[in-house]
Amino acid sequence: MEEIVARLGKNLAELRQNFRSGRTRGLVWRKTQLRAILKLVAENEDEIFEALNRDLGKHPAEAYRDEIGVVKKSAEYSLHHIEKWMAPKKGQLPLLLFPAKAEVLPEPLGVVLVFASWNFPISLALDPLIGAISAGNTVVVKPSELAPACSSFLARIVPLYLDNKAIKVVEGGSDVAEKLLEQKWEKIFFTGSPRVGRIIMSAAAKHLTPVTLELGGKCPIILDSLSGSDLKVTVKRISGGKWGACAGQACIGIDYVLVQRKLAPVLVELLQKCIKTFYGENIKNLNSICKIVNKNHFERVCNLLEDPGVAASIVYATVLHWLGCLILFKHLRLIEPTILLDPPLDAAIMTEEIFGPLLPIITLNDVEESIEFINARPNPLAIYVFTKNKTFKEKLLQETSSGSVIFNDTMIQFICDGLPFGGVGQSGFGRYHGKYSFDTFSHEKAILQRSFFLELEPRYPPWNGFKLEF
Ligand code: NAD
Repeated sequence: MEEIVARLGKNLAELRQNFRSGRTRGLVWRKTQLRAILKLVAENEDEIFEALNRDLGKHPAEAYRDEIGVVKKSAEYSLHHIEKWMAPKKGQLPLLLFPAKAEVLPEPLGVVLVFASWNFPISLALDPLIGAISAGNTVVVKPSELAPACSSFLARIVPLYLDNKAIKVVEGGSDVAEKLLEQKWEKIFFTGSPRVGRIIMSAAAKHLTPVTLELGGKCPIILDSLSGSDLKVTVKRISGGKWGACAGQACIGIDYVLVQRKLAPVLVELLQKCIKTFYGENIKNLNSICKIVNKNHFERVCNLLEDPGVAASIVYATVLHWLGCLILFKHLRLIEPTILLDPPLDAAIMTEEIFGPLLPIITLNDVEESIEFINARPNPLAIYVFTKNKTFKEKLLQETSSGSVIFNDTMIQFICDGLPFGGVGQSGFGRYHGKYSFDTFSHEKAILQRSFFLELEPRYPPWNGFKLEF
């Protein structure tokens, strides 16, 4: 550890010196680094697929969609817009100050620290990095130790493509994270759990370092009365969002579904059909669903089913599921898509973030009850609503608070650079993606330029009645 701390100190001094030298401020440096990220992912696709497969059993199709594709899109978007983002914006001034000129100039913050999470270990490391580079900062990225193949890939490959004097990858677990947090940073960008989020915030307070916390929580789906092809599309989008993105190990993944009681049987039936279409009978297509990241998380997810009330509420899981939890699947760290109907609301599965392929369906008398249900719990990172009812949409927007609200689809907000991505309340604070990433890693400096012409005497003493009236 002593050696790590010494290296850390040396690295930080180098990053600070290079920031002060101004080398990262110019447009050319920023664009060169963004292009280098594009080159890095393009030239190492196979290695990225391999690392993601080793850590999470991620299929290359899923890996491309959620990791390589996301990074490419973000880097290209930044390259396209960065010049405009960097330009000073004209500011409004009161007439009283005439003649004068006002501008808002975005400037880089300095040396920033990015913590990535393991579920999308490439995109959640490189996407914030794109924001930090676009804004002209020097950066340390700390990948998650729970995705070791991706972490060591990043540590090895980043110095080969990016400016090593300004961008460093530091590998390690919570011990290294703690050492990093003892240092002074100009910004800490953290993706992870609310538990560690609190640790980050209290460490940042020591240096008054601003933080962005991209946390998690329980993201609900509200399903209004739909039928026919609309319902079929809905079920496919729910299934894709729940099981087709890191097997439910996603911060904006679907945690549970709220549905009118009378609709539940048809929903369960359609979900089962969809699971069979996606993964075959008895999930034969094992390579199409991600594995649980490690033994601890595997046991944590299985334990959510231990409660007798929860076990009794399982309405879909094949025989393999039970055998699997015991023998085969434990070895593979695979949990198959599982549907539960009305598990007890005070059980862990309904109070903790599931972060796995279990899908509780909670039945309500009326879709409007869903608002009260959501408001009785911490603010979700996302609320997904499948409805055609305009009045209900409006009511939901007015009466709930969440990082985002998506009507009639799931998970797609992650690829929308024009929208802020981030939580509220327990799901975190701060925004990123596109221009929001640039802003997150910038300070907006107010610049006011006056001329020596026109002096307004009433602003100066001595005070008298005339100045009061003025
Ligand atoms: P985590 O909080 O356990 O770990 C995240 C990072 O914190 C890792 O780099 C880890 O090394 C570090 N860390 C762990 N213990 C620490 C300590 N004691 N002191 C300092 N640093 C420490 O989170 P995770 O398990 O990697 O990810 C799962 C969580 O992340 C879920 O809650 C999920 O919802 C959330 N998440 C959020 C987003 C988002 O964009 N909002 C994306 C992915 C995951």
